[in-house]
Amino acid sequence: MRREEMVRKVRERAEKQTPWDIAVIGGGATGMGVAVDAAARGLSVVLLEAHDFGKGTSSRSTKLVHSGVRYLEQGNIPLVMSALKERGLMRQNAPHLVHDLAFIVPNYSWWEAPFYGIGLKLYDLLAGKFGFGASKLLTKEETLERLPALDPVELRGGVVYYDGQFDDSRLLVHLAMTAADHGATLLNYCPATGLTMGEEGYVNGVTARDAETGEEFSISAKMVVNATGVFTDSIRQMADPLAEQLMVTSQGIHLVFDRSFLKGDSALMIPKTSDGRVLFVIPWHGHAVAGTTDTPVDAPSLEPRPLEEEIEFVLETASRFFVRPPTRKDVLAVFVGLRPLVKGDGKTSALSRDHLIHIDTSGLLTITGGKWTTYRHMAEDAVNHAITLGRLPDTECPTKTLRIHGYLENSAALGDLEVYGSDAEAIKALAQDPALAVQLDPALPYIAAEVVWAAREELARTVEDVLARRTRALFLNANAAIAMAEPVAKLLAVELNRSEAWVAAQIGEFSVLAQQYRVV
Ligand SMILES: Cc1cc2nc3c(=O)[nH]c(=O)nc-3n(C[C@H](O)[C@H](O)[C@H](O)COP(=O)(O)OP(=O)(O)OC[C@H]3O[C@@H](n4cnc5c(N)ncnc54)[C@H](O)[C@@H]3O)c2cc1C
Repeated sequence: MRREEMVRKVRERAEKQTPWDIAVIGGGATGMGVAVDAAARGLSVVLLEAHDFGKGTSSRSTKLVHSGVRYLEQGNIPLVMSALKERGLMRQNAPHLVHDLAFIVPNYSWWEAPFYGIGLKLYDLLAGKFGFGASKLLTKEETLERLPALDPVELRGGVVYYDGQFDDSRLLVHLAMTAADHGATLLNYCPATGLTMGEEGYVNGVTARDAETGEEFSISAKMVVNATGVFTDSIRQMADPLAEQLMVTSQGIHLVFDRSFLKGDSALMIPKTSDGRVLFVIPWHGHAVAGTTDTPVDAPSLEPRPLEEEIEFVLETASRFFVRPPTRKDVLAVFVGLRPLVKGDGKTSALSRDHLIHIDTSGLLTITGGKWTTYRHMAEDAVNHAITLGRLPDTECPTKTLRIHGYLENSAALGDLEVYGSDAEAIKALAQDPALAVQLDPALPYIAAEVVWAAREELARTVEDVLARRTRALFLNANAAIAMAEPVAKLLAVELNRSEAWVAAQIGEFSVLAQQYRVV
């Protein structure tokens, strides 16, 4: 993917006033899913992202490919079944990024083993042929064998079940590459600034500004799809300033620790915290990630901040389960995401996690809600609607079996480069140059060749893009990421032909941002 090439395509169509079949606003899981689906059906598609792909919620999830055992408890069987099917398709189509993970529910009372045991058997049953492994009851010894860091006091046993785990922003990058492989045009750092209307009052395009150069575009499109997550209503109000609010927002935080806090290869699932939620502690990229919370938020932002009480809540809850309770000084990073929830009454944790397709009277098609795991199904639904409304050529959705860029079976042998799948060979080739084989910080496995690859092939434009979403340094260890900023800026400057002043500004901007990912 080359940004100049993408800009050229947008400019050319704008000059000729040739409409795209679909213009997508928002480059998170939802928008990128739509771009993949539309492009794979042979439609012309342009996607505009205000910041970097995945800057919003889609890089800040708990990294689970799951249906949510909690929805089972709420009796939402269709949602559970549909998400379990999507979980299976995600692993099938991106095996280099989606893996099975064993989750242990520890039991402390006599009733927990039968209660969770039966519930999780139902979860297995609903997965049918998309199952990831059979759940079973564990003795106390078996539970401790799988989770050696668990506090054995009053432990009676446990239940193990299987779900999926992934790297969210890496999957997003590979979805972008999949869409581009099928001819989609994708622009990061290009916010939609307005919607254009035809004579009959229907939306017929988008205005956008290239944030790197200031160039303005008027992009005409047969259908405009709004996939802006928690920013959904602001785009709808571009067409109709009086449009009633569809969305509410809640935030969830995650704390990242050294892997020694969670020994073994399984995740811990705490089914009921003191506020009645579920909390996970999962192994991820050689670390332990604990989360999440559910705190209502008034206004959406791209860099939400953790609240003190959220940090204390996660620490306190996790502490009750481990022999060595984690403390503030053990936190290597904190990251926060905002949930795009379809409006309703009551607590945000009880709001619908189903997705919503909404069509405004202006003809603007909004797709929102849902979850990362269901992105493909959401995209299929959105493009089906777009085809009908925009009178676009009607073709079958091919994404159930569409391999995601980087597809590779048995990718574990690639070690730290596994997340690149079939692209790992090209990164290894770059690393033949000793200068690019250099590890950027001793705390994390990332090497200089990955920075060069991100700039050349993955549309990384800034130090933050590389350290937050192409690699996951910022999400794993904020101090190590700060230490990596200078070498990353220098490597990027060579690739993107930037000045020394740019390097200094990038290091400064990233260091300020990264402070928010530290807990002091
Ligand atoms: C704490 C937390 C944990 C979660 N954990 C999981 C999990 O483990 N598994 C799971 O399946 N799901 C999980 N989810 C849900 C999942 O992450 C979200 O449903 C999904 O990422 C939403 O994607 P999206 O594309 O709709 O929104 P986003 O990723 O936020 O994308 C919207 C994009 O629109 C862009 N945008 C906004 N305005 C404009 C504009 N004017 N022009 C262009 N672009 C614009 C934004 O910059 C943003 O990048 C979690 C969510 C949260 C908050």
